[in-house]
Amino acid sequence: MQNWLQLANKTVIITGSASGIGSALVDAFYSQGCSVFMSDIKTENIKYPNTSNIYKNKIAHVKCDVRCKDDTIAMIQNADNFAKEHDIPIASIIVNAAGITRDGFIHDLTEENYDDVLDTNLKGTFHSIQAFCRPDRLEKILSTNTGSSIINIGSVISERGNIGQTNYAASKGGVVGMTRALAKEMAYQSIQINKSRGEPNSHAAIRANAILPGFIDTPMTQTVPSNIKQRIISGIPLRRFGEPTDVANMALFLASDRSSYVTGECWECSGAIAI
Ligand code: NDP
Repeated sequence: MQNWLQLANKTVIITGSASGIGSALVDAFYSQGCSVFMSDIKTENIKYPNTSNIYKNKIAHVKCDVRCKDDTIAMIQNADNFAKEHDIPIASIIVNAAGITRDGFIHDLTEENYDDVLDTNLKGTFHSIQAFCRPDRLEKILSTNTGSSIINIGSVISERGNIGQTNYAASKGGVVGMTRALAKEMAYQSIQINKSRGEPNSHAAIRANAILPGFIDTPMTQTVPSNIKQRIISGIPLRRFGEPTDVANMALFLASDRSSYVTGECWECSGAIAI
């Protein structure tokens, strides 16, 4: 698997990396030999992987509230400084995993809870992507004939809806639309950049995909009462909640050049709950 994915020596930025899916992403990318730049709104909960490091890859973290544009610009700048300091490639992969829920029936949902969810899940993803896609960064990445992969974490809730989650479904639906639009824009940009550097036939491209998890066993879902959880599981054809590693393993494939012709897609990881 290590050799097949060929991710060693790439650098990845992961938002929301202190918990759940983000934390599993850190372990997965690090164990594949990637250097990892972790970020989260609270850095005290960030855990460094305890996998033995046969690759000598690097890892560091920074505090970043993705709702704040300046924080995301600083996150990318810090990640680029980290790469320079350790003489490793600048990050060509970003996984946007920071997210929250603030559930409630629509008549009870406060404007604050609506805004918090939209600002974190949708605008936060936008901020991180915008900082990551700075034109000089993209040119630098493609200048080495290396592809780039942007992976957004959406949710099956945007496809199938859920009681008490109008705000969350709206935010994740936005992530789907944003991913598709971004994929087209980045494909166009990649072709322009490759032409301008005299490599019009290069396959190196900036891709964007989303993973739409179903119910995954993380702190986000630990508040679901056990009777409701059992009811949910009975509606999942694979009869279990997913593990954070199930999502992380999909991200590895989408980050790798093995998926180099895959962009603008939204991949469900839900044990078939969405079918
Ligand atoms: P967790 O709550 O375990 O992890 C999310 C992390 O993001 C936490 O560390 C959280 O910090 C952090 N975070 C929250 N707000 C911000 C912010 N403004 N800036 C930076 N970091 C922030 O959730 P999951 O791992 O379960 O979720 C990861 C992603 O997967 C989310 O986007 C979620 O919507 C999505 N998802 C999860 C599913 C599930 O079943 N678990 C299903 C479908 C999608 P803090 O803990 O302090 O809030």
